[in-house]
Amino acid sequence: MSWEDRIRKVEPYVAGEQPKEKDIIKLNTNECPYPPAPGVEAAIRDLAGDSSALRLYPDMDATPLVEALAAQYHVKPDQLFVGVGSDDVLALCFLTFFAGCTEEEPLLFPDITYSFYDVWASLYRIPFRRIPLKDDFSIDPADYIPAKSGQACGGIIFPNPNAPTGVELGQEAVEQIVAANPDCIVIVDEAYVDFGAKTALPLLEKYDNLLVVQTFSKSRAMAGARVGFAIGNEKLIGYLKDVKFSFNSYTMNLPSIRIGTASAKDAAWFAETTGRIAATRERFKAELRALGFEFPDSRANFVFARHPAFSGADLQAALRARRIIVRHFNKPRISDYLRITIGTDDQMDRVVDALREILA
Ligand SMILES: *Cc1c(COP(=O)(O)O)cnc(C)c1O
Repeated sequence: MSWEDRIRKVEPYVAGEQPKEKDIIKLNTNECPYPPAPGVEAAIRDLAGDSSALRLYPDMDATPLVEALAAQYHVKPDQLFVGVGSDDVLALCFLTFFAGCTEEEPLLFPDITYSFYDVWASLYRIPFRRIPLKDDFSIDPADYIPAKSGQACGGIIFPNPNAPTGVELGQEAVEQIVAANPDCIVIVDEAYVDFGAKTALPLLEKYDNLLVVQTFSKSRAMAGARVGFAIGNEKLIGYLKDVKFSFNSYTMNLPSIRIGTASAKDAAWFAETTGRIAATRERFKAELRALGFEFPDSRANFVFARHPAFSGADLQAALRARRIIVRHFNKPRISDYLRITIGTDDQMDRVVDALREILA
């Protein structure tokens, strides 16, 4: 065996482009177009005068952040786990909760979904199966109920709303899936829940096999700070912490703990900003419809749309030539679609103008 044969080989996740040029309308990675909560800037100013913030190891429990989130979401601090973006949280969840998956009882997730899931499953050698979405891109809960589908499973994960479709699965359907699988962990990835969808958090009171994961990257305008979190029952969170503290204890740096805490405490800014983005989304949907675009109804901070007369790749290139960047996935079933992040009203007006010019 050569050294190369001994290596763990993986096909990594490919993220959306982060362009170096200025004067670009960047609508390809679902970031927030507005600045974070005002308290975040104040917290950064305070950090500049506090040398211990960098000199010392950070609090590995991120206590102030955990406490602020616990207060905000009305759960106990022991029900919370924070990580370096929800990608960090999700990677640790795969490692912790899907260890028992087998070929007979694989991890299940939709065929069209967040493309990091199969990367983590492959990295950790977790057997998995992709379950096709219905033609309208909705999840059929029956596909995740073993008694109905005939498919046993060892774990389930899906985003709600789903990515990159934006389609929300109703709370009753989410509950059916959680209730039908008491012997495995069901993770609901709520990266986009804050733009008008319903959270699964209330179900935590009834089900001990549910874990809800959220992030500061989209709805709290802090993708650069890398803050994500999971909420579940204490026992489940305890197992997740055991794995985390067996891997790398000091992941979240102190500046992120402090600014995350400032953000978590500002409910008014949060409601206003997410409401504004949802309103822009609804206006943008009407404009897209008038231009002849087709799209599933989105509850996220993006719209997943296609035009019957154009290929997704051509539209993406034509927008790029007009300095507008959107996401295109060259994958089965969705290669004609563009995922367009909701920016400011002004940015979306410019997108509509560009599309009108391209379609003319
Ligand atoms: C953006 C996203 C994440 C991860 O975001 P982080 O920046 O790592 O918090 C997780 N799941 C879905 C579905 C996403 O779209």
